[in-house]
Amino acid sequence: MIKTHILGFPRLGPQREYKKALEAYWSGQIDAAQLQAQGAAIRQANWRVQAEAGLDYVTVGDFAWYDHILNISLLAGVVPTRFGANPDLDTMFRMARGRAPQGKDAPACAMTKWFNTNYHYIVPELRAQQEFKMAYVPLLDEVQEAKEQGHDVKVVLTGPMTYLWLAKCAGQQFNKLDLLEGLTVLYGQVLAMLAKAGVAWVQMDEPILVLDLPNAWQTAFKTAYNQLTDGHQIPAILLTTYFGDLQDNSDLVRDLPVQGIHLDAVHSDEWKRLAPQLPERQILSLGLIDGRNVWRADLAAKLKALNAHARANLWIGSSCSLLHCPVDLDNEPDLDEELKQWLAFAKQKCHEIAFLGQGLMQPDEPDLHQTITASVQAVQARRNSSRIHKPEVAARLDGITDAMMHRKSKFVQRAQIQKQTLKLPPFPTTSIGSFPQTTAIRQLRSKFKRGAMPKSDYVQAMQAEIKEIINRQEAMHLDVLVHGEPERNDMVEYFGELLDGMAVTTKGWVQSYGSRCVKPPLIYGDITRPKPMTVAWSTYAQSITKQPMKAMLTGPITILCWSFVRDDIARAQTARQLALVLRDEVADLEQNDLRIIQIDEPALREGLPLRRRDWPHYLTWAVNAFRLAACVAADATQIHSHMCYSEFNDIIEAIAALDADVISIECSRSNMELLDVFDQFKYPNDIGPGVYDIHSPLVPSADTIEALLQRAAAKIPPARLWVNPDCGLKTRNWAECTAALKNMVVAAERMRRQYA
Ligand code: GLN
Ligand code: ZN
Repeated sequence: MIKTHILGFPRLGPQREYKKALEAYWSGQIDAAQLQAQGAAIRQANWRVQAEAGLDYVTVGDFAWYDHILNISLLAGVVPTRFGANPDLDTMFRMARGRAPQGKDAPACAMTKWFNTNYHYIVPELRAQQEFKMAYVPLLDEVQEAKEQGHDVKVVLTGPMTYLWLAKCAGQQFNKLDLLEGLTVLYGQVLAMLAKAGVAWVQMDEPILVLDLPNAWQTAFKTAYNQLTDGHQIPAILLTTYFGDLQDNSDLVRDLPVQGIHLDAVHSDEWKRLAPQLPERQILSLGLIDGRNVWRADLAAKLKALNAHARANLWIGSSCSLLHCPVDLDNEPDLDEELKQWLAFAKQKCHEIAFLGQGLMQPDEPDLHQTITASVQAVQARRNSSRIHKPEVAARLDGITDAMMHRKSKFVQRAQIQKQTLKLPPFPTTSIGSFPQTTAIRQLRSKFKRGAMPKSDYVQAMQAEIKEIINRQEAMHLDVLVHGEPERNDMVEYFGELLDGMAVTTKGWVQSYGSRCVKPPLIYGDITRPKPMTVAWSTYAQSITKQPMKAMLTGPITILCWSFVRDDIARAQTARQLALVLRDEVADLEQNDLRIIQIDEPALREGLPLRRRDWPHYLTWAVNAFRLAACVAADATQIHSHMCYSEFNDIIEAIAALDADVISIECSRSNMELLDVFDQFKYPNDIGPGVYDIHSPLVPSADTIEALLQRAAAKIPPARLWVNPDCGLKTRNWAECTAALKNMVVAAERMRRQYA
């Protein structure tokens, strides 16, 4: 028996209907009933795509108005008291966005990245005596909805172990496993309820099974699943794992009393080893189609692998939920035909999965034969295309030497030279790069992009914006200025548009969190830089001010992590290619007299592999890529980098190894506590701990900022401290950032007087 399914479909809708509906609801333009009607329409369209592709099941429960983990919190009644006592749709939004029931502010729940993806989930807050009781459960209606549409339903739920693992302790610390029994009881009730609603299969997502789990958690897995399946009338469980392989968790998975197991067959070949060990009657679901990337699959190769490991009870699916893919390639009229041939988005992937199922069951079907041949041809065309393989890139990669990854002199010497040329005061003030992206700026960019504005007019208008941004910074008495990045829609997409070997889509949106979407560029081939990308803007900016101008680049690892990447070469290789083109950009900026260059690497940490033992390898190539980009700079050129995440402890050595002359980091929310690790490690170079949280509209007073700087100065030698916000200011307005930056300058001046 062969069945086909996916682990989940994107929620956004082909035209970002999801985002539009959410934002219309939040701003009061539509009411809850209208919002729910939009949701139903999106779900039904998604199920139709799955059914029309020929999948055996449609997946229900993948929809969430903000996030699927938040859905479980509402389902289980895990609602912090500050959000009121009646869990419903609005409670959910308040938890995600930070409001109390009376419309007052209440701190939002924390949000963090879902494994190694760019999707963010809302972190559940558990109390020591947390009780779980069924609270807000739209899932049942969704099951009903799908049944009414005539679909065979498989329900997806995040499993209890993964939910618990991802949660944090509110208030005092305690052992989260103490709560497992209560949580499992609740899951038992949910499953029983689903069985009553006629659901035959539940896909229980337990992706933590690809992580390094402590023994206690491995044991708890068995206890929980035994409890869950013991004596209840519940649907069959398909235990799903993805994003990696099971390794030392595989024994435990084999012992779980579940009817099926799903393995990620894209990111690992482990399934070939495990398949023969599973009992015949147990379903093996193989995630053969990549839910994390956009390349069309070689169906013949997949069928060959399947036939070599044939088994009776087999399901075929996506490696993980298709949540991480854009919705529909048919929405991309602007992508060239050749490139399009190489791609598959969520809708196309449903078809690929259905074809694989048919290919196993009716291998001689002539139509199918054609489809399979076409997929093979597309993959071969891509493999051999001259757009992908450029001999000059290969030659440059071969020519990389160790010397290219080292500055001429050590930091202490460079710092001396830079001090003489830049003549900055102690506690120099600067910003992270972007300034408010006003409506005027956005309109300019879109007009130019539409072709409704000649290039010369666009350049002139943008220069006027840059001039205005510089005037404002001069009036605030900042020391190191920036041009404000008004020409950039996004810090990665901007480079994606200008580099050869990369492409951008028009509708290739992917949910990042809530209504926020990103449009990752595609890295499809060897990367070259047809011409300088930032030099003209930065040079213009420097030409109109006497203050030093800091040029802005996005680093190789961040471009890599926030793009869809090639699957035919290692990520490290792509990182090196990106590093080389950025290196050329650094050299060009330097040639044009830009004395300070910032290379942002906010994604350095999130690129970390899921398993600890893979960290050193990643950190080595990632750091080397940054250095390859940066180290072309002469001693007199000051290289900055910026990172905005909050856990530096376990990668501090890598941060130091970047050898940036100055790094700016996010710090204010932790009250400078994050600096402890820099202190203990004796971080050697200059550092700008962010002194105010740009995510909040609040304007910090000079006193507040000064107090933070005092704390910083107690940990880092004052001579190496810079003064800057936490991150770029593009989401703020001018009134907020002018007031905040002025206070920041006042605080820096006070510090100078004290430490003079
Ligand atoms: N230079 C970028 C900006 O200021 C950095 C953004 C980021 O760290 N995410 O917007
Ligand atoms: Zn940042």
